[in-house]
Amino acid sequence: QVKELGKNNFQFYTPAMNEAVSRRMKLEIGLRKALERHEFTVVYQPQINVNTNQIIGAEALLRWNHPEWGSISPVEFIPIAEETGLILQIGEWILKEACLQNKRWQDQGYKPLRMAVNISSRQFQQSDLLDRVKNILKETGLAAHYLELELTESIIQDSKHAVGKMQQLKDMGIHLSIDDFGTGYSSLNYLKTFPIHTLKIDQSFTRYIYADPKDASLVETIITMAHNLNLKVIAEGVETVEQLQFLQQKQCNEAQGYYFSRPISAEDMRGMLEGNAVKM
Ligand code: C2E
Ligand code: MG
Ligand code: MG
Ligand code: MG
Repeated sequence: QVKELGKNNFQFYTPAMNEAVSRRMKLEIGLRKALERHEFTVVYQPQINVNTNQIIGAEALLRWNHPEWGSISPVEFIPIAEETGLILQIGEWILKEACLQNKRWQDQGYKPLRMAVNISSRQFQQSDLLDRVKNILKETGLAAHYLELELTESIIQDSKHAVGKMQQLKDMGIHLSIDDFGTGYSSLNYLKTFPIHTLKIDQSFTRYIYADPKDASLVETIITMAHNLNLKVIAEGVETVEQLQFLQQKQCNEAQGYYFSRPISAEDMRGMLEGNAVKM
């Protein structure tokens, strides 16, 4: 759409912008139908205790596979789902699916895992979030302490009564973690007031711990600080044995990343649970 602008103005929308806008619209239309068309799946990424080398948990991650457009990254569609409010239904769907799957593995006799699910800003702000989570646990039969909700610093900061809500979830037995820790701009002061169990060190720090002394020092400091506050630490994005060894040396508790496994289907996860010890 070209607007009548003054003589000295060029066209307002560049072709690239037009393309971005129409892709955004296309995805939004597709997203509105994706749930009922069963285009979403859940993949699971193992979380490993770096001392025992055992899988102790998994993070549930959403995948959208459109019949024509193929696989679309959550990095692209989650923000659209968030803006349009569609994330409420989608988020509830994956929460239930992940709880159900976790219970299924337990019923099949595997060592119980804790299932981590990402919670979006809109979801966290819902006034009936607590009831919704309670209902899902009841319907799926999963015990609360096998569920972990991942929140980001900005989600917590943008929400009213965030601490009270977190406390209620914690009182139910649910674990809470701060995802992408270190990438937000919030003050560290909140860490003493948030009723959380775990800090997830963002992969942008993990990436260069072996190459960049500054990243190494930041990660070491986060681990020490977390332990002093009685919090557990999990490092995201572990891809190499060198990164793992560094984290073990610095007493990091858990790790997650391509070194151990990419996010995989429930079926492939079952294969990993059979052995439940990954390569070192
Ligand atoms: P996140 O929660 O920080 O998830 C970690 C992301 O890092 C995942 O990307 C995962 O596949 C990727 N990853 C894991 N290990 C490695 C590694 O060793 N190297 C590299 N380079 N990447 C690794 P994914 O699945 O594309 O998800 C991206 C983001 O989309 C997530 O970041 C999360 O913010 C969001 N997301 C995904 N699923 C959901 C969901 O169900 N609900 C909500 N609200 N957000 C979701
Ligand atoms: Mg996450
Ligand atoms: Mg993360
Ligand atoms: Mg991330």
